[in-house]
Amino acid sequence: MIKLKTVNELRLLRAAGRISQKALHLAGEAVEPGVTTKEIDEIVRKYIEGQGATPSFLGYGGFPASACISVNNVVVHGIPSEKRVLKAGDIVSIDVGACLNGYHGDNAWTFACGDVSKEAKMLMETTENALFEGIKAAQAFSRVGDIGHAVQKYAELRSYSVVRDFVGHGVGANLHEDPKVPNYGTPNTGAKLLPGMVIAIEPMINMGSERVRVLKDNWTTVTADGSLSAHFEHTIAITNDGPVILTSLE
Ligand code: MG
Repeated sequence: MIKLKTVNELRLLRAAGRISQKALHLAGEAVEPGVTTKEIDEIVRKYIEGQGATPSFLGYGGFPASACISVNNVVVHGIPSEKRVLKAGDIVSIDVGACLNGYHGDNAWTFACGDVSKEAKMLMETTENALFEGIKAAQAFSRVGDIGHAVQKYAELRSYSVVRDFVGHGVGANLHEDPKVPNYGTPNTGAKLLPGMVIAIEPMINMGSERVRVLKDNWTTVTADGSLSAHFEHTIAITNDGPVILTSLE
């Protein structure tokens, strides 16, 4: 069931989104050669808790950390570890959510660690642009399929592939709500986007095949062919005046 948010709920979601975005910023600033993904996770946890919020991912389905940190061929759900030391050339996808006063924000970004290859840079740029294509398509009275189509078209025109096994989602008092928001689709299909809907759009784009597999820890999801993957996400509200990014510092 898709829950439309009241004006007051949108205010609460924006406050949670702001903390999520700031935490993601701080995490990104910490990405550099020699830093462990565990250290970045600690920065995220401390900032969120310092704001009187709680990390949405910590304990979610048993997830053991505050941020998902997914390096290179890891698509999503990488578990921060003191053994994972970042090196120059890595691309580092960080996914962070914060819950404040019962409402969540959810956002992700892929950061370059030191100098990265031209190919990696292009993958990151394309995935970021694909996110904003998806956001642009999230107009009131359009449909979920319009978002997926916009993301998919942008990525596939540039010869990348779109991960199918994980999708965006509604956000509210729960981290994951209806509707599912795939990063692929057919225009004018799926749930209608109504003012008051809040969704996370989160393209995961691979340099090689779209296929992924989950490692034995039951979390870490990698590309099946070992190719690089990038992940960008914002939580947005559907409004009569167009999409509004809630995971914003404003
Ligand atoms: Mg999400």
